[in-house]
Amino acid sequence: MLETCEYGSLEDNTKVTMYKLDNGRMKAALIDYGASLVSMETPDGSGKMEDVTLAWSSLEGWVTNECYFGATVGRYANRIAGGKFTLDETDYRLAVNNGPNHLHGGIVGFNRRMWTASSVESRTGNGVKFEYSSPDGEEGYPGRLDVSVTYTLTSGGELKIEYEGITDKPTIVNLTHHSYWNLAGHHSGSILDHRLQLNASSYLPVDENSIPTGQPASVENTPMDFRKPRRIGEGIDSVEGGYDHNWCLDADSGLSQAAVLSHPGTGRVMEMETTEPGVQFYTANFLSGEKGKDEATYPRRSGLCLEAQKWPDSPNRPGFPSAVLRPGETYRQTCIYRFYTG
Ligand code: BGC
Repeated sequence: MLETCEYGSLEDNTKVTMYKLDNGRMKAALIDYGASLVSMETPDGSGKMEDVTLAWSSLEGWVTNECYFGATVGRYANRIAGGKFTLDETDYRLAVNNGPNHLHGGIVGFNRRMWTASSVESRTGNGVKFEYSSPDGEEGYPGRLDVSVTYTLTSGGELKIEYEGITDKPTIVNLTHHSYWNLAGHHSGSILDHRLQLNASSYLPVDENSIPTGQPASVENTPMDFRKPRRIGEGIDSVEGGYDHNWCLDADSGLSQAAVLSHPGTGRVMEMETTEPGVQFYTANFLSGEKGKDEATYPRRSGLCLEAQKWPDSPNRPGFPSAVLRPGETYRQTCIYRFYTG
């Protein structure tokens, strides 16, 4: 049985519920607003529990802010240049909400929708499944899209996130999970002392609006080279604004390791696996002292996102992995964050 409690209510009195998962070693809490992760408690090397994900202290934070803490992002995570794309010779215009571009599903993306929750029990652990039906034309996207995201806290120390989607017209889909991690604890300040490995030999250079300038470039001899574990603070100042780029993963297909994040001070390690071709690594360059849960303050670079996804602006880039979904097909994605100590 899933433990639940009331989390808050929206202006129209819709109740938002919190769902708690516990595998005996780790605990997670989720809400049906945005299908968002609100807390993730994991032990350090000595067994001390700490909440390692940034979050607001109440529902209002999620409703009024743009940070996407712990949220399910969609219909298309990341940017689409000019908020425009063409599919099957039809031009579509999406909501523009980030300079001249479309970002993270638009003005009211999946992070600001109410999802319907149900409890899921499997051999590997207990979970919660969130479902949402996005109508044809929402934020400019074609086709009705029925999506689900299932979070399971497995006996193997994983937060496993599985997505599915079907459409009634050709459309584009690119969902992601947008937690800001800080393995020292969400209130611990800078993440620059974390070490990161990213299994990617190339990344996408971007223009001033974070749109890819062209084809993937090699990470070799650049601050983007995380093929071996590297302190995040080591190269960050050589990258304008900090890290906020898509790494093109080396794995060909299937569920593969994308990243390993570790915090030497506490011994916490978070390994990430994904079925997707890219990871947006974002060092919270735009945080600026937001007030979070447990009286925490979140300065710039006090969390980091590892977002599994298709490459940004793929609907306008014929050479990039496709985000197109057609009637009769099922969109499927799995992303695993595995926690252990080392
Ligand atoms: C993007 C950032 C953006 C942030 C919003 C990230 O996924 O890459 O550019 O500012 O989301 O929270």
